[in-house]
Amino acid sequence: MYDYLVAGCGFAGAVLAERLASQLGKRCLVVDRRDHIGGNAYDEHDAAGVLVHRYGPHYFRTDSQRVIDYLGQFTEWHHVDYKVLSWSDGQFWQFPINLNTFEQLVGHPATSEEMQRALEEWRVPIDGPPRNSEEAVVSQVGWELYEKFFKNYTRKQWQRDPSELDASVCGRIPIRTNRDDRYLSERFQALPAEGYTKMFERMLGHPGIEVVLGKDYREVAAEVKFDQMIYTGPVDAYFDHCHGELPYRTLEFEPETIEREYFQPAMQVNYPNDHGFTRIVEIKHATGQKLPVTTIVREYPADYSLGKEPYYPVPCPASKSIYTRYAELARAEKGVTFVGRLARYRYYNMDQVVAMALKKFADIAAAAAAGA
Ligand code: FAD
Ligand code: UDP
Repeated sequence: MYDYLVAGCGFAGAVLAERLASQLGKRCLVVDRRDHIGGNAYDEHDAAGVLVHRYGPHYFRTDSQRVIDYLGQFTEWHHVDYKVLSWSDGQFWQFPINLNTFEQLVGHPATSEEMQRALEEWRVPIDGPPRNSEEAVVSQVGWELYEKFFKNYTRKQWQRDPSELDASVCGRIPIRTNRDDRYLSERFQALPAEGYTKMFERMLGHPGIEVVLGKDYREVAAEVKFDQMIYTGPVDAYFDHCHGELPYRTLEFEPETIEREYFQPAMQVNYPNDHGFTRIVEIKHATGQKLPVTTIVREYPADYSLGKEPYYPVPCPASKSIYTRYAELARAEKGVTFVGRLARYRYYNMDQVVAMALKKFADIAAAAAAGA
């Protein structure tokens, strides 16, 4: 008999199992249909000994001290400034757009004020906040930079035009007029020093937690008794797609090991306008691992269908209206807590999922205290 069945062993499931077991003494059974813990953040050493992120690069970043303190119980940190380049028109560009990019474009040294004046000229004025990802970019930098860096990358990644996607999608990428060339803007940027998987092992090491891998939660739910459930899989799958399938994007990862210390000049190079892949990631730049060989991963976006991995919810008006119906069902479902990127159908980063799981735990603990 378990207090909680936890479906999914990514950040959402692992944080909740750890909190419930260590703080409330609950017995938790965590089930994942994959053969490993960590969800999409899983990392492992490949055949050449390179620590790789199996499901795409996972750059941990956050502004939340609570999240840092919580995860810090299970890992030391390796601080990194994540640096990315973009390959366009036959050359590497500083990316995200910043003063260095502007200098590359105009071909001479420039100041922030000159860049601001140029952007003021190039930007397309809009009334109110941007309504979609095209407006989010052109209202800041105009058509030329939009077409150089954003338009085709986004079409490749989402199989939709930026004008069909919520402003938040391209809005993830900062645009700066100073020389800050970090890909991300959060104040804390670091990787777990020994990798994500080691951190998850420690989180799940509490004696009140059991983990079953390689099984669908439904199979396990039919065999064991439990009181409550935490569900972190796709919300439409939980309800047997009764309101139709939510759209997702999937990816194909093509790893290649190369007999050289480094392959490319940065951890990530984006390819907006060339090739079928969107980016080449060489995670060794970020992990700081010292090895004479390297592994790169090319990322090919692909159409999703049932049976594939639903990596990305698609932030657009059509998916929102379907999700709203599932959210209503989820709210009404007794004894089940829906948490995480797929269960809430939101393009969340890891720290946001950790924060959400900690908040859910606080609600559960408060309800338990009130009932006691
Ligand atoms: P997941 O990690 O998806 O875990 C859910 C788990 O549930 C999965 O392991 C799945 O196998 C399991 N599951 C689903 N259905 C069932 C079932 N029926 N039975 C049993 N198990 C089931 N975030 C960042 O902060 N920084 C980044 O740089 C970053 N890069 C990313 C790059 C890519 C390519 C992707 C796809 C995501 C990236 N993210 C990044 C987002 C990050 O992966 C998520 O925020 C985080 O992993 C979400 O955790 P989760 O527990 O909600 O979901
Ligand atoms: N994007 C783009 N060009 C780039 C990088 C990103 O157009 O060079 C857009 C694209 O739509 C992408 C979104 O910005 O999906 C978010 O990019 P991010 O790198 O955060 O994507 P993730 O790492 O989540 O795949």
